[in-house]
Amino acid sequence: MRLRFVLPFLSCLFLAQVLVAGNGPKVIAHRGYWKTEGSAQNSIRSLERASEIGAYGAEFDVHLTADNVLVVFHDNEIQGKNIQTSAYEELRDLKLENGEKLPTLRQYLERASELDDIRLIFELKSHATPERNREAARLSVEMVKSVGLEKRTDYISFNLDACKELVRLCPDSEVFYLNGDLTPMELKELGITGLDYHYNVLRAHPEWVKEGKELGLTSNVWTVDDLEVMKEMIGLGVDFITTDVPEEALELVRGRSR
Ligand code: MG
Repeated sequence: MRLRFVLPFLSCLFLAQVLVAGNGPKVIAHRGYWKTEGSAQNSIRSLERASEIGAYGAEFDVHLTADNVLVVFHDNEIQGKNIQTSAYEELRDLKLENGEKLPTLRQYLERASELDDIRLIFELKSHATPERNREAARLSVEMVKSVGLEKRTDYISFNLDACKELVRLCPDSEVFYLNGDLTPMELKELGITGLDYHYNVLRAHPEWVKEGKELGLTSNVWTVDDLEVMKEMIGLGVDFITTDVPEEALELVRGRSR
């Protein structure tokens, strides 16, 4: 049989073995489960929906306002207002696409504390200066602790200053780096506990997942919405898949997908 027929067959066989053995990756709903009725990215509803469908985790994005209020939103601006340079008072009545008001981190975490055990994948966004990144990290960790969710929260960030500060402040928590430009060994040396890279980074460096495992690091991949790419990433051995289509991903890892 020709190699081009044998290789896809072997990779399917490997995938089937991984999934049947229950060793498939855990599914994280990217910005919560928002592609569903009544939801919106990073809304409280998206957190509830991620929990309802049995996702392992809900990812969400956090900015610090100019007057040090942590709020949950992805973009730098909401309805033309820059979050990080605005006072919370200017933002508090702005609405998400599903009609909810812009959630503060406290509101989001308080709702999370009432839900079963969905894991919180806390993305701290980049801020203007190293000092501001460290301040945002400090206030984030304080807030998570004040709601009693430190054991259910993992931190992720594109910003290396933020990651280093999170490692320093909460050495018992998982901290993942998102930017894709550091090797597993470089992450390990910084005390960072996992890589959370775009799938094209892992395609370019497929050995990083295995190298990470050997160093005790876990691997997450974002944002994978195509089932074929999910299968490819499962084949690499990733521990987590972050996706905008968590229901389809759950079907796949539970072995019920085509
Ligand atoms: Mg994010």
